[in-house]
Amino acid sequence: MKETIRTRFAPSPTGYLHIGGLRTALYAYLFAKKYGGKFILRIEDTDAERYVEGATEIICQTLKDAGLIYDEGPDVGGDYGPYVQSQRKHIYYEYAHKLIEIGGAYRCFCSKERLESLRDESGARKYDKHCLSLSEREIEEKLRHGEPYVIRQNIPTEGVSSYYDLLFGKIEVENKDLDDNVLLKSDGMPTYNFANVVDDHLMRTNYVIRGTEYLSSTPKYNLIYDAFGWERPKYIHLPPVMRDAQHKLSKRFGDPSYNDLIAEGFLKEAVVNYIALLGWSPKDDREKLSFEELKELFSLEGLSKSPAIFDKRKLMWLNGEYVRELSPERFHELALPYYEKSKVKGLYDYKILSRLLQTRIETLSQIPDMVNFLEEFDRFDPALYRRDKLKVDEQKAKEILPHVLKSLEGLSDWSEENLHAALSECAAGIGAKAGQVMWCLRIAITGKESTPGGATEMARLLGKDRTLQRIRQSLRWLA
Ligand code: GLU
Repeated sequence: MKETIRTRFAPSPTGYLHIGGLRTALYAYLFAKKYGGKFILRIEDTDAERYVEGATEIICQTLKDAGLIYDEGPDVGGDYGPYVQSQRKHIYYEYAHKLIEIGGAYRCFCSKERLESLRDESGARKYDKHCLSLSEREIEEKLRHGEPYVIRQNIPTEGVSSYYDLLFGKIEVENKDLDDNVLLKSDGMPTYNFANVVDDHLMRTNYVIRGTEYLSSTPKYNLIYDAFGWERPKYIHLPPVMRDAQHKLSKRFGDPSYNDLIAEGFLKEAVVNYIALLGWSPKDDREKLSFEELKELFSLEGLSKSPAIFDKRKLMWLNGEYVRELSPERFHELALPYYEKSKVKGLYDYKILSRLLQTRIETLSQIPDMVNFLEEFDRFDPALYRRDKLKVDEQKAKEILPHVLKSLEGLSDWSEENLHAALSECAAGIGAKAGQVMWCLRIAITGKESTPGGATEMARLLGKDRTLQRIRQSLRWLA
């Protein structure tokens, strides 16, 4: 029988779900779904110091919002729960003691001071297996006296441990370089080193997809699988997502989380699409891929071994592509809160604005900036009039604008067609090109290099009074 693929995402609830984490979750999800498998969410909250209240809820909500619907997890249950590590303490306790019985681990009663004394000149510490040689009687004695202990992994001192990572190939370490890490702390809490193995085994995970920070410690985990006689999962370690060549993405340096991006006005389809490309590409190098296409096309062959760089410009571009694909109604619905947040709140026909903006913006959050000029008109740099292609500059604007003013003053029907006709006529009358007239007018009444529409559209939106007022003002600024 073909085995069902089971992958998991195992975040620690330390705050928000960062882009690198979501990328890992996405690949685990896509890989499982491509083959009709299951995707599981497990919360790794054994490190009480790093625990952040509410973080688990953010993780669950983010995954669901992004479409990564997990088949098993803390809030949806499943056959192998609980899916929160702090609720599984009894399980780790039982397996850690089993591991002692079969020789894969041992109790260590060493004091902090003794452990400190094991540090070498560089400050590194490797446990010297001191407690491995305690006799049964000594151990019983200590237990009777209630001496606290940790449980350490008993790593062979000789030989080599290796495994085959599906992305990085053969990974090998010498056992003598591995430390007898703590598996269970004296308060009964497991460390990651132990909990990840027990859980991945009990939760029937057969493909472990996670960050490369675990690439070289995986041989150690495999020794635990081997000691128990459990089948090892297959591993795919993913390179990190970086801000630049040297730095990982990090919230501390202001890099955005998924939720930040959504709050900034990015569309989730675009964000998920972009995140999928942070370390993977389809055979044909296509960049715009729907969620369904991602599920169909995702493959291990397309994964990259090099770190990916998060490029917000590229996300903006991709988002723009998605914005243009929205139905006008949907775009309008999504744009509404941004008008409300802008200076034009309640003053203009939002539908007209939406019609103009959908073809021009990359993210919804650009909307206030794009429309604020309708209400806000501040002195601007006259260099804005310069446009080589049109042979226009401040001087030319100064010549053209008085004529424009005159012809618009006499215009009573302020429709776009009329405006257009009047401006063309004005251009012909003074021997200028229509493009030159339109350009000067648009700059004069908006003070912006790019606006959601051309001169006539902007004039119509502003209305006659304001258009004329602004032309006069701009002429004064040119004087
Ligand atoms: N809790 C670990 C982390 O957040 C998970 C590593 C894994 O997927 O095994 O880095």
